[in-house]
Amino acid sequence: QRGKPVVDLSQLNPRQKEAAKYVDGPLLVLAGAGSGKTSVITRKIAYLIGVCGIKSYHIAAVTFTNKAAREMKERVMSLVGKGGAKGLTVSTFHNLGLNIIRHELTTAGYKNGFSILDQDDCKGIIRDVMHREHGDDGDMIELVQNAISNLKNDLIAPDHAIKVASTPQELLIAQTYSVYQRMLKAYNAVDFDDLIMVPTVLFRDHPEVLTRWQKKIRYLLVDEYQDTNTSQYELVKLLVGHRTGLTVVGDDDQSIYAWRGARPENLSLLKKDFPTLKIVKLEQNYRSTGLILNAANRVIDNNPHEFEKKLWSDMGYGDPIKILKCRNDEVEAERIATEIVERRLRYGCGYRDFAVLYRGNHQSRVIEMKLQAYQVPYKLSGGQSFFGRNEIKDIMGYLRLLINPTDDAAFLRVINTPRREIGPTTIEKLGEYAAMRGISMMAATTEMGLEQQLMPKALDRLRRFGHWLEGITRNAYTDDPVAAVKEMISDIDYEGYLLQNSGTPNQAERRMKNVWFLVDSISKMIAKAEELGDECTIEDAVSKLILRDMMEQQEKEDEADQVQLMTLHASKGLEFPHVYIMGMEEELMPHRNSIEADTIEEERRLMYVGITRAKRTLTLTYAGKRRQFGEAMDTTHSRFLDELPPDDIVWEGKTETSAEEQKQRGQETLSSLRNMLADF
Ligand code: ATP
Ligand code: MG
Repeated sequence: QRGKPVVDLSQLNPRQKEAAKYVDGPLLVLAGAGSGKTSVITRKIAYLIGVCGIKSYHIAAVTFTNKAAREMKERVMSLVGKGGAKGLTVSTFHNLGLNIIRHELTTAGYKNGFSILDQDDCKGIIRDVMHREHGDDGDMIELVQNAISNLKNDLIAPDHAIKVASTPQELLIAQTYSVYQRMLKAYNAVDFDDLIMVPTVLFRDHPEVLTRWQKKIRYLLVDEYQDTNTSQYELVKLLVGHRTGLTVVGDDDQSIYAWRGARPENLSLLKKDFPTLKIVKLEQNYRSTGLILNAANRVIDNNPHEFEKKLWSDMGYGDPIKILKCRNDEVEAERIATEIVERRLRYGCGYRDFAVLYRGNHQSRVIEMKLQAYQVPYKLSGGQSFFGRNEIKDIMGYLRLLINPTDDAAFLRVINTPRREIGPTTIEKLGEYAAMRGISMMAATTEMGLEQQLMPKALDRLRRFGHWLEGITRNAYTDDPVAAVKEMISDIDYEGYLLQNSGTPNQAERRMKNVWFLVDSISKMIAKAEELGDECTIEDAVSKLILRDMMEQQEKEDEADQVQLMTLHASKGLEFPHVYIMGMEEELMPHRNSIEADTIEEERRLMYVGITRAKRTLTLTYAGKRRQFGEAMDTTHSRFLDELPPDDIVWEGKTETSAEEQKQRGQETLSSLRNMLADF
């Protein structure tokens, strides 16, 4: 009776429409890349709100990255308006978990002000535990950390892990897991995997809590379903219960997180767990040209297939796929940089239309240098930002504690960095004592009651730390704040610590420079305020830095006109008109570990993900020689290049060209570039 339909589904094809409108039972949309799975989710949310009359507050959509979540929310808002989307949950699994923990804090066994520890913080705890309990010198830390993460993703509790351990190594892992988990609890902290495990276990053990959440989330939609792990799947199952409000979309060919516990078989499990499951398959790709799609299909055909899927495109054939063999890694980066400059002018497009993808984060450095040299703006996703650097996080930890002694997360970050011989048991007891008294860990260090809890030596070390920081804080507020900060850095001999804990003296020096850059920023802030006749305390300055840190994170996500640099993993779900994939060499792509572990199929899926990001052009590059550990090593081109349809590719440099020719070609590109720039 409203005249025109509230929600316009006319842009969807019949199958997509069917999926968007189906609300009578659980639904799985199983389809290849670029077929509009994510589009179905956003339209469906609009349909649920606009046509089915479900309050947005009762709808939750889960995606894989923060970026994807933000984009999805924006798309929904453009469909139903800001008001219509009010209260709608669109988040990553981890954010959803965090939200649940926040609401159920006490039932989950935490108290206010709990912290989320990052990978490095957790590694530090594991290192200490293993050192204490097993005299381990640090070789096994990564292995143990991964193993603990896998146990959590599989929802295996420490006790159970100990019970079923069948080798000494498994037992070591399980025991470390047990102590580690106790310490996290004592710190009132969770790690990344807990964000999923804790709510799942909570729902299992507390039906009344689960019922409350089931009442809240009446419709759940999950994107990139092939990459959910056991605990995420369990969370989904619990939330949905016996009801019908579930839509999941996925593509088994894009499962690329098995190494992080993802279980692509969750796709087939769905049918078992939800007997009324309806399956919709989409076959038209709206993203890529015919040749790009054909290449993707050909590559992935080399993998065995559980689900039959077809994918076609009517976007025209498009340009052939380019493969560039370059002399070495530097020439490779140079070629990409110059091509981007050239193509941007030729196609009249923006920098943002280009993406350079690679297998590992370390590969970004050389392309970054070249893009800088050509003054091409770029955005690095997932790389290290200034505030993400360990040395900056350390010093910021001290500064945060200095302006706010109740910041327990900061306390934990700095208490043993540099080492103060304050062991995990001491910290655990301190944490418990602080929790019991309802005060911060910092405040607890100087309390009298602690004497009953701790050995005199441990107590002494803690107190010394407490008093020392109090002294620094006093100086920072009453004297020259910058001098106090410098004194703090010299007192803890941070430079010596970096020298001992960096790979090379050079690296230590670079890291120390970052620290001085930070101190310098504080000093400039204060000086600037004084110039203006304002007062700027150490607290003001540090608060501003914390804000800047948050803004940097925000900016990282903003859409500016920049070339996008990211790993193949991070590119999932995204699309770009022009895509470069660099380092197409054996041992790099496929990765050496996958060759050794015989997990080539997962690498091939990663290749499939990479190829299918491209809308108009795809360029694959590799270097004949690549520098490794300071030496230029000969390489072999990736096997995946040989899997591409030979008629659809232009392979430059496959038959050996002389260095002379290469050089000449480089010069030609450069001179044509100059001409174009002159025209511009
Ligand atoms: P991936 O597997 O890579 O996550 P996907 O299946 O989620 O891909 P989308 O990102 O939803 O695919 O869609 C790919 C592109 O196709 C987008 O640019 C989207 O706007 C467009 N698209 C989707 N459906 C249609 C349609 N029916 N008509 C026109 N364009 C469409
Ligand atoms: Mg998608």
